[in-house]
Amino acid sequence: MKCMYCHAAMMRHPAPFQITRQHYHVTLERVPAWVCSQCGEVYFETPEVEAIQNLIELLEVQSRRLRKAA
Ligand SMILES: [Zn+2]
Repeated sequence: MKCMYCHAAMMRHPAPFQITRQHYHVTLERVPAWVCSQCGEVYFETPEVEAIQNLIELLEVQSRRLRKAA
C-alpha cells in the first residue's frame, strides 16, 4: 500500500482518531491504521471506519436524548 499524497510506503500502525462536535468530543487513542512512513498521513480501513461511524451514531442519538432531558 502506498501513500496517495507522497507515494511512500504505508505501514500498519495504530493511530489516534479524534472528532469534535458541538456537544461532545471523542478521542480514540489507538485505532488500527496505515501510516505513511514519510509524511505521516493516516488511513483507516473499512472495518475501523464502520466501527467509528457506529460509535458516533450511538453517541449522536444518546447525546440528543440527554439534551432533550435537560
Ligand atoms: Zn505520504
